[in-house]
Amino acid sequence: MLFVVRPGRKKNELEAFFIENEPEKLSAMKNLKADRIYRFIMREGRLFKVLEGSQYRNPKEIEKLLRQARIVLVNADEWEEYFKVRLQNKRVEKAELCRLCLLEGRVTVLTEGNRIKYHGEYICERCAEDELKRELRFRFKSIAMFDQAKKLLDRFRDLDKVLYAFDPRFDPTKNPEITRWDELKAKHVRVEKLRVDELNLPGKFKSVLKAEGVNELLPVQSLAVKNGLLDGESLLVVSATASGKTLIGELAGVPKAMKGRKMLFLVPLVALANQKYDDFKRRYSKLGLRVAIRVGMSRIKTRDELVVVDTGIDADIIVGTYEGIDYLLRAGRKIGNVGTIVIDEIHTLDDEERGPRLDGLIARLRELYPHAQFIGLSATIGNPEELAKELGLKLVLYDERPVDLERHIIIARNESEKWRHIAVLCRAEASRKSLQGYKGQTIVFTFSRKRTHELAAYLTSKGLKAKPYHSGLPYKQRKLTEMEFLAQRLDVVVTTAALGAGVDFPASQVIFESLAMGNKWLTVREFHQMLGRAGRPLYHEKGRVYLIVEPGRKYSAQMESSEDEVAFKLLTSPIEPVIVEWSDELEHDNVLAHSCVFNRLDVIENVQAKCLGANQSAEKVLEKLEEFDFVRIKGSIVDVTPYGRAVGMSFLLPKEATFIRNN
Ligand SMILES: [Zn+2]
Repeated sequence: MLFVVRPGRKKNELEAFFIENEPEKLSAMKNLKADRIYRFIMREGRLFKVLEGSQYRNPKEIEKLLRQARIVLVNADEWEEYFKVRLQNKRVEKAELCRLCLLEGRVTVLTEGNRIKYHGEYICERCAEDELKRELRFRFKSIAMFDQAKKLLDRFRDLDKVLYAFDPRFDPTKNPEITRWDELKAKHVRVEKLRVDELNLPGKFKSVLKAEGVNELLPVQSLAVKNGLLDGESLLVVSATASGKTLIGELAGVPKAMKGRKMLFLVPLVALANQKYDDFKRRYSKLGLRVAIRVGMSRIKTRDELVVVDTGIDADIIVGTYEGIDYLLRAGRKIGNVGTIVIDEIHTLDDEERGPRLDGLIARLRELYPHAQFIGLSATIGNPEELAKELGLKLVLYDERPVDLERHIIIARNESEKWRHIAVLCRAEASRKSLQGYKGQTIVFTFSRKRTHELAAYLTSKGLKAKPYHSGLPYKQRKLTEMEFLAQRLDVVVTTAALGAGVDFPASQVIFESLAMGNKWLTVREFHQMLGRAGRPLYHEKGRVYLIVEPGRKYSAQMESSEDEVAFKLLTSPIEPVIVEWSDELEHDNVLAHSCVFNRLDVIENVQAKCLGANQSAEKVLEKLEEFDFVRIKGSIVDVTPYGRAVGMSFLLPKEATFIRNN
């Protein structure tokens, strides 16, 4: 038996909620429906009259109950003495109740852990959620954002704060505590740094490095050397964007190239291949090394793209896209004596289509060049140990976060609200100066090239020094923008997620205008790579990351989730593991590619066994390929037909090839 008693409407009146089955703990009293509600009229310090609705009850009988029941007083301290002393009840407690529940005749006891602030008082979680739904319905004519708002509510325990974040007049720069999601603390890995002079490298190579300003290795480079980089050890190096991974490949490959053993440097994008090609040519022609580029131009649209022309492969260093190098193998070209194979952005392995092909390419290269040193380079991946083991590489993991990172989330109702917030955030950042004397600078990521121009123009119209940046721009223009940014002459660079890798753009603030890349949502890994650009050690004390989220927004019809859902996934999920999955079609493609390079069945079977995503034996797949007229099997020898080779070289899937042949 429980009475919850609070002051009534008139002086000397109490309102009492009678609950037959009392829960043991106060905190368990949630949404209890009162069995009866009484009005107690008190006179001269005792119970004078009792009303239940309009019915009179006998005060003597009620007092008898009050003596035995548990009593919870809500803002009725002055009556404590009456219950404790006059009625001699030892079970009198005081508590705070949810006022909104009481209005509906429900009793909910508030505790430190369950209460939520609202308009200067506390209410219960359930009422806060009801209020939130009501407000959202009123402001947006929809409660699509409810789940997300509820997460904010769980986090802040303050309904006013949460509602303010949905207010169109909201100013994120004045309310960083409302938008703040969390703070990732800096993490330092101690690595003893090595000087170029103390490395076991050819003297001429050292001179070239020093001429480039490299006198001391960066931590991840030192770590790789300590793990056997210069002794031919095959490594998987996992470390953040712009931490100096590229040079690791060069340190391994250039000395061998100087002795006539070639270096293959594989990258995922034409723009990256071009950049590396230029860099390597400038640096290593001084050592008498010849550099070649292979990007398989036939598959690249030239409009808006850099025009890259493949060179001959009679070179010491060959830079190429995965497909550019794979094409050479599929064409049956002999690359020669290869000593080092560097695979940049090796986590591309988990891409739906390119992943299986890269998987097959790596297996073919491992079979062709069993004595070559393989160096896989990757930014953050979810399962580095597993991947290293599967690829037969030694893992070098360097996961340092140089500065603290504040992560914020801002809700916007539409594009113009998004852009307005971005302008305000960029301006605030540009007017900040770090302790080290550097002005704040922002990188804004958006989903398309066209959009980088539009947004940069908008920000310029708001008085900011902003420029677009993407791989479709002329090389000179990109270089100029990079230099202006480094010299702190720009406030903002607006770029696409695609270009994230490879380019050194260290900023103090990173803003996600959208969480998509093209027509796909960002993966957690991409997201981490991108946000890792905020906060530059020795320049800023702290990095800021803003996600500007439009609830319900999608960037293509195929997208299942909406931007708000994706935002919370990106902020809370662990980085995806790299898992290679082959479809039947891509299995056909890969075994055909194996057969373009090797003609003995047992060797092809070996290569197939080296693939991470292979589902079937090569023999089984070859039977199918013979039906397609791609190969002829004669005992233990597999011959590729001219038609089969053409299909392999054009990277067509068997289905597509058959379609083309029949039409
Ligand atoms: Zn309530």
